Amino acid sequence: MSSQSEPQVLISRQEIEAMVKKLAAEISEHYHDKSPLLVGILKGSFIFMADLVRLLDFPLEVDFVRLSSYGSGKESSGEVKVVQELSTQVRGRDVLVVEDIVDTGRSVAFLMDYLQKKEPASLKLCVLTDKPSRRQVPVTIDYPGFTVPDKFLVGYGLDWDEKFRNLPDICTLGDD
Ligand code: 5GP
Ligand code: MG
Repeated sequence: MSSQSEPQVLISRQEIEAMVKKLAAEISEHYHDKSPLLVGILKGSFIFMADLVRLLDFPLEVDFVRLSSYGSGKESSGEVKVVQELSTQVRGRDVLVVEDIVDTGRSVAFLMDYLQKKEPASLKLCVLTDKPSRRQVPVTIDYPGFTVPDKFLVGYGLDWDEKFRNLPDICTLGDD
């Protein structure tokens, strides 16, 4: 029996590495001559972003945006706001949003709409893990990684109450 809140590996670091390589290859094919701006959503995407950009061997820029937190627990309040702005001009740029997980879709749908209003040359979305069974707002993922079950995930950047971001594997908690 697993004890409560003991992380159980769902996606191993080796599987993550292979997926990040696959996504990087697809992204390279499209963006190698475009000098894109990669926009990560803090805090969860920081590890995925770090691994992804090291596999991209062409000029690019990285920026981060922080959206309003859904609180310290597992449930979303529904409302999304920008709490830390980009420091890069988006107008005319080829923008790729990099996100760790899409659940209800609210965060990413909000951000794509928010960035589209800044008139980028193009705007696409790369997501490492997707929980389609939880979707409330439609989202088009241009570069999708893993489809995951409706379980609360931690590790590889994902937290529970700010803990577990440093786990190298993507895990479920024992009580989920
Ligand atoms: P959405 O707006 O799609 O409902 O949720 C997106 C955000 O909720 C993610 O960026 C993440 O911060 C949080 N979230 C959703 N599902 C999970 C999960 O399984 N684990 C963790 N740690 N965060 C999640
Ligand atoms: Mg996130």
